[in-house]
Amino acid sequence: MEPRIIQRAEHGISRKDINENALKVLYRLKSNGYRGYLVGGCVRDLLLGRKPKDFDVATDATPQQIRKLFFNCRLIGRRFRLAHIHYGDDIIEVATFRANIPVEDNLDEQHVTIEDGMVLRDNRWGTPEEDARRRDFTINAMFYNIEDFSVIDYVGAREDLEKRIIKLIGDPYTRYIEDPVRMLRAVRFATTLDLSIGEQEYDAILQQRDHLMNAAPARLYEEFLKFFYSGAAAKAIPMMLDVGMLQLMFPRWADWLEHEASEEDRKWTDQALRQMDIWKSNDRKADAPLLYALMFGSYHEWLAKPDLDEGKPRYQAINHAVASHYETFRECVSMPRRQMTQMMHITSCQARFEKTRGKAPHNFADRPYFPEALVYFQFTQGITGEHPELADWWKTYVKENPQTARKPAQAPRKPRRRKPRSHKPKEA
Ligand code: ATP
Ligand code: MG
Repeated sequence: MEPRIIQRAEHGISRKDINENALKVLYRLKSNGYRGYLVGGCVRDLLLGRKPKDFDVATDATPQQIRKLFFNCRLIGRRFRLAHIHYGDDIIEVATFRANIPVEDNLDEQHVTIEDGMVLRDNRWGTPEEDARRRDFTINAMFYNIEDFSVIDYVGAREDLEKRIIKLIGDPYTRYIEDPVRMLRAVRFATTLDLSIGEQEYDAILQQRDHLMNAAPARLYEEFLKFFYSGAAAKAIPMMLDVGMLQLMFPRWADWLEHEASEEDRKWTDQALRQMDIWKSNDRKADAPLLYALMFGSYHEWLAKPDLDEGKPRYQAINHAVASHYETFRECVSMPRRQMTQMMHITSCQARFEKTRGKAPHNFADRPYFPEALVYFQFTQGITGEHPELADWWKTYVKENPQTARKPAQAPRKPRRRKPRSHKPKEA
């Protein structure tokens, strides 16, 4: 099929909005006789007048040919070889055009599928059209061609973008089953870019959301985290609840949020998500354990309440609450255990902010999780306004000891020395 070519004069993408390293890559591919296209989210964002997060390149050069062109190139990926071109901290990802795999075609040795249609492995080069069609949503499948600065559209993306609608390429039912994570991505793009999800795409989510449980837990964790950094977390999480996906990923918390949480608890969650959106708009990036600690904060407090009422120490009650909650979602959303422990520390150490005498504050401020715990404390204060004098005290403390609020560099772990169990007599 012939693509629609949107000439330079008909679109607003200017080279001055394109990352200079991405431009270098495109020009070098072109001058060596290869095609060089910008692709995916960056073309979509540029057309929407937004600043792209990263610039990805697609080409007909194979990974080996790309490596020959760039001395600063590293090939990565086991499932599919990709080239990373390094310019200091900036990395431009360059991928060879590839084809999607027909679901029923599982005899081909190059790729493997499992029975219900979910793609497990693929490894086949393709044409630009095939490369566009294997992508998830139409708006994510446009190419920007460095040859003549046009935009190449194989999938009717321009029209969908004008209508501000998110549509899958091909049949929504098949495409969601092929990769259930696309359901999560639909919600993220809709809320972040302020677009609506197509009717069929929306209905298909409602009917097939259970397939989310077939996705790899590590991918679900990574994709969910992107909500926190999207700038639209406060819109996305309620939408995840509306479409029933939150209930699958975090069943206990979602159930509590829907049926048992008080007005204040809901306000807490909403404020936590809004806070993440404010950080995003200020270009601040908090780490995952703090973000999860904030989002789950009121639930963990609620879970810990019976233990606290029984007189158990706070750290013990909260640690128990966090650990037992973690068990209910880790098989579906695999948060690394180390992050869970950090989330636990951030929440359970909060009582230490009440101890402002003697060495206690200094000892506390020495803890590696103190900066995050402080942010959590300030957030709680902002919501409850319960101990303004404590909040002021810590404000002054941090002002006088500014190094404590800065995140310490991760110190390499020292191996613990073990005492030898038995002392064998030295040989004579
Ligand atoms: P963001 O701005 O959040 O990075 P993005 O569209 O660039 O959005 P990425 O996850 O970086 O999203 O993926 C880059 C491109 O790869 C997408 O634009 C899309 O074309 C393709 N893609 C990503 N995930 C999938 C998927 N699950 N199925 C099909 N295509 C995908
Ligand atoms: Mg991207």
